[in-house]
Amino acid sequence: MAELCLENVTKRYMAEKRPVCAVRDVSLTVEQGEFVFLIGSSGAGKSTLLQLMGGEIAPDEGSVCLNGANMARLIGPWRVRAARTFGIVSQQGLLIRKRTVGDNLLLAANAAGMRRKGKDAVKKALGIVGLPGVEARYPAELSIGESRRVELARAVLNSPHILLLDELTANLDDDVIWDLLHLLMELNSHGTTIIMATHASQYVNILRKRVITLVDGRVVGDVKKGKYGDIVG
Ligand code: ADP
Repeated sequence: MAELCLENVTKRYMAEKRPVCAVRDVSLTVEQGEFVFLIGSSGAGKSTLLQLMGGEIAPDEGSVCLNGANMARLIGPWRVRAARTFGIVSQQGLLIRKRTVGDNLLLAANAAGMRRKGKDAVKKALGIVGLPGVEARYPAELSIGESRRVELARAVLNSPHILLLDELTANLDDDVIWDLLHLLMELNSHGTTIIMATHASQYVNILRKRVITLVDGRVVGDVKKGKYGDIVG
């Protein structure tokens, strides 16, 4: 089980010697098993908020707590254990182009400490995302939709409690988006928390999950069974 709690979280960047406030005074809690859409226009702070939630970056003010423990203060094995709570798909895509899909996932499995069980975990993860047997292919030989599935397989390798997904559905055809969303709902039905930044308004409106809306780094809406554009708490 993993509960994520953000209290008065603020994150600033220096951009061309001027501070940019990417996330402003955000407080929210995400319980285990929730499905959350994070929405807002480009630059609203969605990616930064996901990185803060996953402990990839630390806030300048406030705290991000996983099961009550402030992630910025975790060290050594506690930090490693916290990191393994999360499966992350970032916007950049992390597949190494010169390695096969199998090698890519095996490297990730090794990094997650699954040395002996790595191969089995890779096979299982590719099965979960509906791409069994693609181990020998190279990332360049995959469609965008298949690449996203492989990224997702990478993220679910060690059965994380929480999936943090940044624009997983960007630039995909409708049927591929639906397939991915069904996959995420299936994972969610087994208890995995899904927190997903997206611009895919029509799907957000159909699925009616929790919708957190960011404008200029602030949460302006947090609605259970919400819709795109809801700006109430
Ligand atoms: P979104 O994901 O909603 O597009 P981001 O979190 O990427 O928003 O960005 C929020 C704001 O922070 C933007 O103004 C962006 O330019 C700025 N920003 C994000 N990352 C960095 C960075 N590494 N350095 C400087 N500014 C950044």
